[in-house]
This record gives sequence, structure tokens and C-alpha cells, in this order.
Amino acid sequence: MPLERRSGTFSPPTLQTLPAAVTANVAELRARTRSTIMAVVKADGFGHGAVTVARAAVAAGAGWLGTTSLADASALRAAGLAVPILTWLHPSGIDAEAAAATGVDVAVGSVDELGALVAQAVSTVRIHLHMDTGMSRGGCPRDRWDELIRLARHAQQARKVRVVGVMGHLPLADRADPAANAPAVARMRRARQAVRAAGLGSPLVHLAATSGTLTDPATHFSMVRVGAGLVGIDPSETVELHGASRLTAPIVHTAAVPAGTAVGYGGAYVTDRATHLSVLPVGYADGIPRECSPQAGVEIGGRRFPVAGRVSMDQIVIDTGADRFRIGTSATVFGPAGGATPTIRDWARWAGTIPHTIVTGIGPRVKRSIA
Ligand SMILES: *Cc1c(COP(=O)(O)O)cnc(C)c1O
Repeated sequence: MPLERRSGTFSPPTLQTLPAAVTANVAELRARTRSTIMAVVKADGFGHGAVTVARAAVAAGAGWLGTTSLADASALRAAGLAVPILTWLHPSGIDAEAAAATGVDVAVGSVDELGALVAQAVSTVRIHLHMDTGMSRGGCPRDRWDELIRLARHAQQARKVRVVGVMGHLPLADRADPAANAPAVARMRRARQAVRAAGLGSPLVHLAATSGTLTDPATHFSMVRVGAGLVGIDPSETVELHGASRLTAPIVHTAAVPAGTAVGYGGAYVTDRATHLSVLPVGYADGIPRECSPQAGVEIGGRRFPVAGRVSMDQIVIDTGADRFRIGTSATVFGPAGGATPTIRDWARWAGTIPHTIVTGIGPRVKRSIA
């Protein structure tokens, strides 16, 4: 078999989303809670395509959607998704009229933020009071909850807002230890009580994300906000979920080299035998972690082969040993668990990070497709 370049074309690097995996993951989550599921599709659905993930999740029974910005929420509306949507980060502030017009709920995490919203609101905006339940990363600090609730009551009486929900967040849920969540659960109950006592009715209460949903029913309240779990990531590593994406890349160059050949920048890898090298056109600009352990590898033809030498900006080299592959042969960088294919958890381990950073880091040059 000749190793030289073959004329013709082949599939470019592609990140394929697997909606059936999202469906299966929502079923796994629903089996563990009776609470409403909010499908969190921030960061473009954890890199899997927000609309694709949202559609699959809603079809599988998620009743709400969550995003960080109103712009992301509007894109979901434009795609025809009609379920309630909550946004909570507001990277360019809250546009009260845009929120009301798109029918998108906004989380309000401080007295100042609510004051600014009330000042601009013409129509009634649906809000969720975002309480800091122990994360110290957004949300109203506990010593100002009463003030926030009082202001919310006045704003609701003036029909500027409708308090639809009360939210918190769990800082330690990935420990899969209910005792670690107990302080936040107690704070969430206190917030719920204060909101009811203020005459704001019984809004939705939501605290848990994926880990809490999978490991601690006491955190579920009326709704859970699940992001990572939709795409197969369980931060608590207690449940085997279904990987929802596959990254493939074609072999674009091959070479047969003798023992003692230095590969890539710095010659960091030296072949210890005569071997074959295959080049894949994906590098750190495409989200392949530059810092990773020598265990890192990819699947080609049903077998695992190691990445040889440094990850370049646009390419990696694979040591395929005695195997010679044709130009255009597809390699799987990661995919759902099974066989020789690495998972996103493998890549996270090799890179000393979490799987979230692998899937959200895939760059824009990589083509997207849906299975
Ligand atoms: C990302 C996020 C979630 C979802 O968390 P996962 O662990 O990905 O399920 C829930 N709530 C808030 C506020 C978030 O930012």
C-alpha cells in the first residue's frame, strides 16, 4: 500500500453531536428526580450546539431551558423552542424590555441589579431571585436577602416584575456527599421561607445542577438545572452517562521513519523503533490540549495509537507502529465510551482538567454535524 498522498478529498475534522445520547441522558436524570428539569445549554450547549441539545432535551421531557445571556435565549426562541427559558449572567446587563418581549426570565442577583431593572421596565419582567447559597460567585449575599425580597415585593405590586423563581447554586455537589450540600440546602429553605413570608407566593425553587440531581435528592426542590449531564458528563463521577459527541479527523500525511527519529517541535518524542507516523490536521487552536500526558492517543481502525511529540497549533502526529494507514483514513480523537476510542474523560485526565473544558474548547475551524 503506498503511503504517498492520494489525490481526492475526504471528510475534514468534524465534531458530530449525538442527540440520541442527550435523549438517553435526560431519561437517566428523570429516573432520579421528580422535579422539573431545566436543560442548561450555555456555551453553545457545552460545545455540542445549543439548539441541537435543547431540542433533544425538550423532546425527552426537559420542561425549561437555561442560558447565560439573553442573546443565547433569543437564539433558542428563534429556533422555535417555546418552553420557559431562564438567563442568569447578563454579560451586557439586563435589557428589561428585550427580556419581556422575548418572554425570557432573568435571574436577579443583587439589590442594585433589581433596582436597575425596575427603573427601565415598562412591561412586566419575569424574574428569579438569585440567592448566594454558599458559592460566593454571583447571587445576592445573605445579609441583603431581606432587602432584595422587600424590593421584589414592591416591584411586583407595581407590576414591574413577577417573581417566578428563587435560585441558589451548590459549590460542593461533585463530592457526592449530602452532608457537604446540607448548608446550602438549609439556606435555600430559608430563602424559600422568606419569599413566602413576604407574600410572593410559592415560586419555583432551584438549587441543584447535574451532580446534585444524580447524588442528593434533598437538593432537588421544584426544579434542577442540568447542563453537563445532558452531554454525558457527571462531575460527581457516580453515574455512567452517554457521551454526546465525536471528534474525528482525517490522516493528511504519513511517513515511514527509522528508530531514533525526533518528532515535532523540540524533538520531544524520539521513535524507539522503525515505525509509521500519521498526521491529523487538528491542534491546540482546535481545542486539542497542548499540555497532556504521554498516554494521550486516538483511535484509528479500531485500535488506540499514541500522540507523538508536542501538539502543534494545527496538527498532531500519531505513532501507528507497524500499521500504515491511507491518507484520508478517519481517526477518532474522542467519542462515546467503548472500544479503543478515547472519551472526553480520558482527554481530561491526560490534560489534567475536566471534560467540560475539552468539549467547550473545540475551535470554530472544526466542522459541526449532527448524527
Ligand atoms: C452551568 C450551570 C448549571 C449546570 O451545571 P452542570 O453541572 O453543568 O449541570 C446550573 N446552574 C448554573 C447557575 C450554572 O451556571
